[in-house]
Amino acid sequence: MRKIEHLGIAVKDLEKSNELFKKLLGKNNYKEEMVEGEGVKTSFFMIGETKVELLEATKEDSPIAKFIDKKSEGIHHIAFDVADIYKEMERLKSEGFEILNEIPKPGADNKLVVFLHPKTTNGVLIELCQEKQ
Ligand code: ZN
Repeated sequence: MRKIEHLGIAVKDLEKSNELFKKLLGKNNYKEEMVEGEGVKTSFFMIGETKVELLEATKEDSPIAKFIDKKSEGIHHIAFDVADIYKEMERLKSEGFEILNEIPKPGADNKLVVFLHPKTTNGVLIELCQEKQ
């Protein structure tokens, strides 16, 4: 793993949270994007080499909607940048980590992503992401 690519934050109202984070970070978001497969609308802020990803659910069965129901708004996942997502999945599986999706799926911001089960990572949802070539 090379760096923290972004922090994912679950929010109830993306528009309000965009305003909040604009004030907090002193800059505008650089992109908003729907990820249909995940049932989320996302907004990205760049902070140095790392990003903040705000996530709002677009449907009731979205993982983000379930997360907010259970835990309320807040940090949802940490995403690590990897050079080769398949190689990294193999390595992590051999170390005993549970991968939530066996086949990397398209994520926001031109990425291929997989998630690790939080029960194998001290309760933290971990995302691996690789830039799509
Ligand atoms: Zn993410």
